[in-house]
Amino acid sequence: MTAAKPFCTIVPPYVLDRLAEAGHEPAVRSLALDAAHRAARLAAPPPTSGATGLGRVIADAGHSQRLPGRTVRTEGQDPAADASVNHAYDGLGATFALYADAYGRSSIDDHGLRLDATVHYGQDYDNAFWNGRRMVFGDGDGAIFGDFTACIDVIGHELTHGVTQFTAGLEYHDQPGALNESVSDVFGSLVKQYALRQTAADADWLIGAGLLAPGIQGVALRSMKAPGTAYDDPQLGKDPQPAHLRDYVQTSEDNGGVHINSGIPNHAFYLLATALGGSAWERAGRIWYDALTGRRLPADADFTAFARATVAAAKARYPDQPSVADTVTAAWAQVGVSPG
Ligand SMILES: [Zn+2]
Repeated sequence: MTAAKPFCTIVPPYVLDRLAEAGHEPAVRSLALDAAHRAARLAAPPPTSGATGLGRVIADAGHSQRLPGRTVRTEGQDPAADASVNHAYDGLGATFALYADAYGRSSIDDHGLRLDATVHYGQDYDNAFWNGRRMVFGDGDGAIFGDFTACIDVIGHELTHGVTQFTAGLEYHDQPGALNESVSDVFGSLVKQYALRQTAADADWLIGAGLLAPGIQGVALRSMKAPGTAYDDPQLGKDPQPAHLRDYVQTSEDNGGVHINSGIPNHAFYLLATALGGSAWERAGRIWYDALTGRRLPADADFTAFARATVAAAKARYPDQPSVADTVTAAWAQVGVSPG
């Protein structure tokens, strides 16, 4: 099979499909836009400036479908009057900060890639995505989803697809695709935890908390702490994520369930981080980062291969603390994955 391109929208296609089938007009239009972007060639990243610091450019599409839109805030400029512009600017900065401070990484490509984003994309557009070159945010329709710039973990999730694209290059289907999605959830959550200086015990371990409009029965798009419990709503349906390999969902939808089965490695990371305690971006995050960027992980890695890579990373990074690698093995075992 040909590898699917890693075009990820934060709201999975099956959620919008359900809303569209029920006649929700913004979901119909959002799906059409998503399909157009998915079919487009993945945009090449902009040329790097050679600068190693943080460089952000926020543009406003003015509710049109034209990219990039009008530039409204660049690096170092004062906040704009528009809250979405400032949320996007801050979220890009928080993502840059986690990678730079915790892992010594200079932006998505480790070469200071400028971080570009467009806000107010489309009419009531119910999604946000990274297209290989920029982050694009819709305002949401206000009935199901709110403004997509509101959640820094969503921004961290999308930009981490860029990090994965530049490192392990995990294929976007089936188990490697679910790992690709999970890695984005892991670092998306860590962006938020680092910005709030939360411990693993204090973090909510939700992805997209606050994104669902008032009245929707749910707390977020996904839960790493308790996959499958993020929402259960007459319009949205029920969160389909499994937390254990025995419940792995075989499906041809969603590139083989990449946003569904990501619940399994997500929960392994949550179990590791809470077992180790303290700041999750330190040891647990470092181990996942080393596995992702260590250049040993094949692009078609399955859960077992990734689990092995994390155990190897733990042994290499913490040679004097064998209990850390044992804790990694135990976390995977609890979700049914044996590193062997
Ligand atoms: Zn994603």
